[in-house]
Amino acid sequence: MKTIENYIDGRFASPLSGVYLDNVEPATGAVYAQIPESDSADLERAVVAAEQALPAWRDTPLEQRADILLQLADAVAAASEELARAEAIDNGKPVAFARTVDCYRAAANIRFFANALTQFSSESHAMGATAINYTLRDPIGVVATISPWNLPLYLFTWKIAPALAAGNTVIAKPSEITPMTAYLFAQICQQVGLPKGVLNILHGRGQGIGQAMVEHPRIKAISFTGGTATGKHLAATAAPLFKKLSLELGGKNPALVFADCDLDKTVNQLVRAAFANQGQICLCASRIYVQREVYEPFKAAFVKAVKALQVGDPLLESTQQGALVSAAHRDKVLSYIELAKQEGGRVLCGGQQITMDGRCAQGFFVEPTVIEGLTINSRTNQEEIFGPVCTIEPFNDDAEALALANGTEYGLAASLWSQDVSRCHRLAKQLDFGIVWVNTWLMRDLRTPFGGMKASGVGREGGLEALRFFTEPKNVCIQYGDDS
Ligand code: NDP
Repeated sequence: MKTIENYIDGRFASPLSGVYLDNVEPATGAVYAQIPESDSADLERAVVAAEQALPAWRDTPLEQRADILLQLADAVAAASEELARAEAIDNGKPVAFARTVDCYRAAANIRFFANALTQFSSESHAMGATAINYTLRDPIGVVATISPWNLPLYLFTWKIAPALAAGNTVIAKPSEITPMTAYLFAQICQQVGLPKGVLNILHGRGQGIGQAMVEHPRIKAISFTGGTATGKHLAATAAPLFKKLSLELGGKNPALVFADCDLDKTVNQLVRAAFANQGQICLCASRIYVQREVYEPFKAAFVKAVKALQVGDPLLESTQQGALVSAAHRDKVLSYIELAKQEGGRVLCGGQQITMDGRCAQGFFVEPTVIEGLTINSRTNQEEIFGPVCTIEPFNDDAEALALANGTEYGLAASLWSQDVSRCHRLAKQLDFGIVWVNTWLMRDLRTPFGGMKASGVGREGGLEALRFFTEPKNVCIQYGDDS
């Protein structure tokens, strides 16, 4: 049995209470590690360590800070095999996906912000011959990051990298469900000599240590990725404390498939978009709308391709679909499939729990599932399921496609599949989503803004704006002479 520890002031530390939680391997259902159930006493230690580390880290010359982060990025890339295997065990995702998405992008996140910090500049505004304003952008201080279980290392680094690059010290909480890669990441921080106290990692429950972090008076900003309901609760807690907040939340993402698309490519890409990571990506396409002229051929090809997905042990290279992250989440997904049937949905493929042979006999597997026949107002089409389930429906024209796509409270990511450039530009402008992909999915340029509109988030930006989020702007206004 492995024991995961907190990482405070550059050292590994047991929780002061001595209490640990079980960590379950989703593919086997077996407990394979123990993680600290941290509480406010552990948090106080981490805050003090972060406060002590702050002046030196904040004042570290930019090139030197960038060098340390680049070393961290290189070390993550070098450890990607070990990290990918750990994430496959911890999360249930296929090891190949963990390697090419989570680990690759984790190193890329750190490298991007290490380079970005040397390019960061602040504004000045001249008032003619009268005065000049310039804006100082200092780090905020001690900040907290809270990340979810679906892309554990990727999203953990997506939050800590800009915070550290901007000169803050950080207290990070990974999800209690997937703590292992953050623990391995702490070992890498030790190896590369990240100064102690600059990054502190606390494990435990969201409603315990997570809530304590949000409430802590000396933590000045919270960067959160997770569900919309949790985000709402966090905002209600943090707003009266005047904390800076970034919320990256849930989605219910549409894909609009037009008759003039490249059908084969679109089928392949949308199978990936709907089912990558067992559908447990906030950006996954969960509502697929197809122009009526090509609805039947598209549906037939899509369902055939979904049926061919290889569900199996996440540790096998051939596996395309692994386990869902927990028994509770599997049950939630299965309950939505039942709900879809009650709402009049027809299950075109999948719909059942899978019992595997051998090592994975007790794992949390669900068949990739496609459902048709549901209205936009059904709960199935309104609520985030976050599993290997998508709906498919026909539409008649652009106006109907747009109304369906925009018809939920979420606004994270939409995709358009068409060869008609004018239509793509026109619809992209009218879609109420933070990200619109055209003939592609999950392509990311880290310089672009990232995040959702509506109930999918607030206060999130990509590129240099993410660095900017982690700074406190101060305007200095200087009058040139005595005249007022
Ligand atoms: P949750 O909202 O349940 O949890 C997210 C994180 O918040 C976890 O670390 C959790 O801890 C913690 N947490 C829970 N309650 C509190 C609290 N009261 N105070 C402080 N922290 C708390 O989300 P999931 O982990 O289930 O992740 C899935 C969700 O994340 C989906 O809705 C998905 O769409 C969204 N997501 C959004 C992304 C985006 O970029 N917009 C990207 C990826 C996911 P613990 O798990 O230990 O309880």
